[in-house]
Amino acid sequence: MLLEVKNLRVHYDKVEAVKGISLSVAEGSTSTLIGANGAGKTSILKAISGLVKSSSGEIWFEGKRIDNLPAHKIVGSGIAHVPEGRRLFGLMTVKHNLRIGAYLQKDKQELEKSFQQVYRHFPRLEERQNQLAKTLSGGEQQMVAMGRALMAKPKIILMDEPSLGLDPKMVAAIAKIIESFKETGFSVVLVEQNASLALRLADKGYVLETGNIALEGESGELIDNEYVKKAYLGG
Ligand code: ATP
Repeated sequence: MLLEVKNLRVHYDKVEAVKGISLSVAEGSTSTLIGANGAGKTSILKAISGLVKSSSGEIWFEGKRIDNLPAHKIVGSGIAHVPEGRRLFGLMTVKHNLRIGAYLQKDKQELEKSFQQVYRHFPRLEERQNQLAKTLSGGEQQMVAMGRALMAKPKIILMDEPSLGLDPKMVAAIAKIIESFKETGFSVVLVEQNASLALRLADKGYVLETGNIALEGESGELIDNEYVKKAYLGG
């Protein structure tokens, strides 16, 4: 397994947001975490990328334990995080925002290769590279956030609510890009409230309810599951 999370717990003071969940992501696969607001999805992604400290459990990546590493070491090991809300620097250009994703890269040629890879996935970002990030549409900003993650040359990309607030056309564009990530061989962990989109994109799904995994399985099975249909796919 590329990524393994075992019995992870996350607390915010006395609130237990994640109550001992386990999940695994195979190389080259896409997994999704679906669930209502506050179920703990974001907390799991943040614990994997070292942005919140787990209170117990273990996280293993490529056979190495990473839950005690600082966030920058976790990025360096090949885990990129695309946060909810995109978190761009609005007064910087698209190119500058992308450059930040590769802050560990000092070699100019390698850096140029990374830009070219991002522009292959996101031709629109090449067109807009000199534009200030705040002047882009929501969907384009999501592309910058995803492109910034690619700049770090990750093996796995953790994506938090990429479709949030986007119109249907842009959601379809983002979905296509996530598919192209998969074709390139990246592994993806996708957190989504749009469960039908998420299950269409993923190989494997986890249904999260108040900090616990209520159900897990192949996405195809979850799509056909009566409970999932009723609770998450609008009947
Ligand atoms: P959303 O889609 O709303 O982000 P989520 O499934 O990603 O939901 P989390 O954001 O992980 O859920 O939140 C899980 C629980 O932890 C919620 O009860 C939330 O209120 C709480 N929580 C999250 N972040 C904090 C924080 N910084 N301080 C205190 N409580 C928090």
